[in-house]
Amino acid sequence: MTLSQDQLVEFGQQYLYPNYRQPSIVLSHGKGVEIWDKAGKRYLDFMAGIAVNALGHAHPSWVRAVSEQAATLAHVSNYFYNEPNVLLAHKLCELTGMARAFFCNSGAEAIEACLKLARRHFFNQAQVERHRLIAFKQSFHGRTMGALAATGQAAYRDGFGPLGSVTHVPYGDVEGVRAALSPEVAAIVVEPLQGEGGVVPAPEGFLAALRELADRSGALLVLDEIQTGIGRTGQFLAVQHAGVQPDVVALAKGLGGGIPIGAMLCRRELEGVLPPGSHGSTFGGNPLASAAALATLQVIEQEGLTAKAFKLGEQLQGELEAIVARHSKVAKAARGAGLLRALVLQESVDTRLLLSKLRDRGLLLTVAGGVALRFSPPLIVSEAQITEAVGIVDAVCGELQ
Ligand SMILES: *Cc1c(COP(=O)(O)O)cnc(C)c1O
Repeated sequence: MTLSQDQLVEFGQQYLYPNYRQPSIVLSHGKGVEIWDKAGKRYLDFMAGIAVNALGHAHPSWVRAVSEQAATLAHVSNYFYNEPNVLLAHKLCELTGMARAFFCNSGAEAIEACLKLARRHFFNQAQVERHRLIAFKQSFHGRTMGALAATGQAAYRDGFGPLGSVTHVPYGDVEGVRAALSPEVAAIVVEPLQGEGGVVPAPEGFLAALRELADRSGALLVLDEIQTGIGRTGQFLAVQHAGVQPDVVALAKGLGGGIPIGAMLCRRELEGVLPPGSHGSTFGGNPLASAAALATLQVIEQEGLTAKAFKLGEQLQGELEAIVARHSKVAKAARGAGLLRALVLQESVDTRLLLSKLRDRGLLLTVAGGVALRFSPPLIVSEAQITEAVGIVDAVCGELQ
């Protein structure tokens, strides 16, 4: 059965659960930073599946690794070791200075593993009262019940309570964290740059201050690097810019280069917290997803994409600042780190209209936190493609201004 784009959209509207607001196109194939819909229209993909397609679409090395693994062994369960998974754990520990890796299938699951690790850590020490979390306003940690409890945005939380015991402190407020710390706090959960919250970098010194407060109170410091990790900000982990070593790290999104995989990494001291049987995942760390992640990390290393993300991020920042200078009625600032950037819009901008105008001109972007036009292109993006994309944004801002 071959259906036209319009017929497929009709099926989608009729049969998919309507929890998303999808435009009337169907994406069909991609190559690098370019992607095409079923009607043959070409787009520059500067959202990269929300910072997932780190190598862009159909990168030859990634395609080869995934195809060969699919033809060899796709799934075995965690009753057994498998080669790509063991190699991936080794690689991730090497890149992050952590000691152990647990694998799952998504960001929310990686956060769940972090939260369960924190609770069980104190339970094992007979400190059952130590079960609370400190997290931040405007944060995003995922949509399962535990990750949602940590998430600090009403739009995601409303109607799903009661949620677990979490104190939400304003992002960047060290004194607020100090005040919220108590012998009941098991962990501080923080993004090194709030992605969904609007591409808001941590203030200078904030992560180091959290490290110190966590050490002093005995709470664990959990870094949510699901959006910021895998080289996107110009270091493998964004927290590495601050020279801070977390106790626990959550990864997902870019890790598999487009195949679902998440990971929880932890320090040596925490390796005995979750004994056999206490946590697990049927699909977690399967050979297919692990091979995809290994290939992604290999290409990032071989092509020097982490350093490139830093350099191209500076170019993107400069070009976005020029838009702010030219179209001040539409945009008021540019911010972010590496290739996770935003053009901060004036409140008056109709963001849905803006995104549809960009799409019409062949550029895919997202809006985060209601006001941030977010750029999270594949790390393989070129200088020329950045200039092309910003040119489209400039033209649409001119139209809106
Ligand atoms: C996307 C995201 C998550 C949730 O990941 P899912 O794979 O959608 O469950 C959690 N934390 C951060 C910072 C994210 O950007």
